[in-house]
Amino acid sequence: MTTRHDWTKEEILKIYNKPFMELLYEAATVHRQYHDPNTVQVSTLLSIKTGGCPEDCGYCPQAARYHTNVEGNDLMSVHQVKAQALRAKASGSSRVCMGAAWRNVKDGPEFDQVLEMVRTINKLDMEVCCTLGMVTENQAKRLAEAGLYAYNHNLDTSEEYYKEVISTRGYEDRLQTIENVRKTNVTVCSGGIIGMGESIEDRAGMLVALSTLNPQPESVPINALVAVDGTPMEDQKPVEIWEMVRMVATTRIVMPQTQVRLSAGRTGMSREGQAMCFFAGANSIFAGDKLLTTPNPDVNEDMEMFRQLGLNPQKAFVKAPQPQTVEAMDSEYVAMGEKPKWSRPGHKIERNEAAKHKGSLVSED
Ligand code: SF4
Repeated sequence: MTTRHDWTKEEILKIYNKPFMELLYEAATVHRQYHDPNTVQVSTLLSIKTGGCPEDCGYCPQAARYHTNVEGNDLMSVHQVKAQALRAKASGSSRVCMGAAWRNVKDGPEFDQVLEMVRTINKLDMEVCCTLGMVTENQAKRLAEAGLYAYNHNLDTSEEYYKEVISTRGYEDRLQTIENVRKTNVTVCSGGIIGMGESIEDRAGMLVALSTLNPQPESVPINALVAVDGTPMEDQKPVEIWEMVRMVATTRIVMPQTQVRLSAGRTGMSREGQAMCFFAGANSIFAGDKLLTTPNPDVNEDMEMFRQLGLNPQKAFVKAPQPQTVEAMDSEYVAMGEKPKWSRPGHKIERNEAAKHKGSLVSED
C-alpha cells in the first residue's frame, strides 16, 4: 500500500462509518504493514510554562480569560526540565514534549532558554518535541539546530469547525507554522480533539487536511476532549470509546506510516478500550499523572497495562535519526526579532463569550 495524499472527505467518511469489525480489521492490517503491533511509544508531556495564555481555545483551561482552577507558572528552568526528563527516561519514556502556553514564539531570553532545554534533552538521547504556538521559519531553524526532533502544532478540527472553537487565530496560521517547520529536518506532529461538539464530517475534514499534507505528519495525536470546569466546553458529554476507536482506525488507514498517539482523555477509557485503540493502530501514549493540566493515568498503571498486553515501549529515534545539537555560540542563525502578522479573526463565539463572562461574574462575587 502506498501513502496517498489525495483523500477526499467522502472516502474518509466511508471508512469511518464502516461496520466496526471491518474497520478494526482493515486498520489493524494496515498497521502491521508499517509498524510493529507490539510496540508502543511512551512519551512524557511537560508543561514548561502553564496558564495565562492570551488565546481563546474553547477546550483549554490555560486560556487566561476563562475561570478555571489552573495555576499559572513562569517558564521552568533548564535544570528543572532536565531533572524531569531524566525521571521520564528512567520510567520508560523515549520522548519528551514540552508545552508552553504561548500564542506564538517570541525571540528573546525565554526562547533562548527553551533552545537550551532542547539541547539538554537531545543530549540525554531522548526525542524532543515542543509545542510553543506559531513559529516563523527562522525560529523553526533555530529549534532544529538545537536538536529538536518534532514540533507539535495541532489543527484541532476541520477548518469549518475551527471558527466555532477559536477566534484569536485562523486555520491558515496553523498550516503556515507546519510549513515553516517543514523547511527544516524537524518532524511534524499535528492532530486534533474529538468531542468538542463537531460533526463526523468535521472529523473527516480534519483528516483530509492532515492526510493531504505532503509529506503527511510523522505524528498525529488524537485527543478526546477533557471537559474542564470553567471552559466553554465544560458541559460537553464524554467521547464514547467507539468513536475514539473509529477515529484512531480511520487515522491509521489514511496515514499508514504516521505514529498515531492516544493523547488526552485516556483516564476515561478502560484498559479494554485502550487495547482496541492499539489494535486499531494507535502506537503511542503519554505517560505521567498529568497531560499539561488535565489528569492522565499513573505510570505504574500504564506499565501494568503494557505487561498485560505484552507491549514493549518504543526506543528513541526508531522512525527518524537523532538530530545533531549545535551549541548556542556556534549557531548560524540569529534572533531576527520578527513581528509576523499572525491573523486575529476576532469573530464572536457565543460559548467562549459566555465562559469569559461567567468568569468575570464569579471573580466579582
Ligand atoms: S490550547 Fe494553547 S494556545 Fe490555546 S489557550 Fe490553551 S495554551 Fe493557549
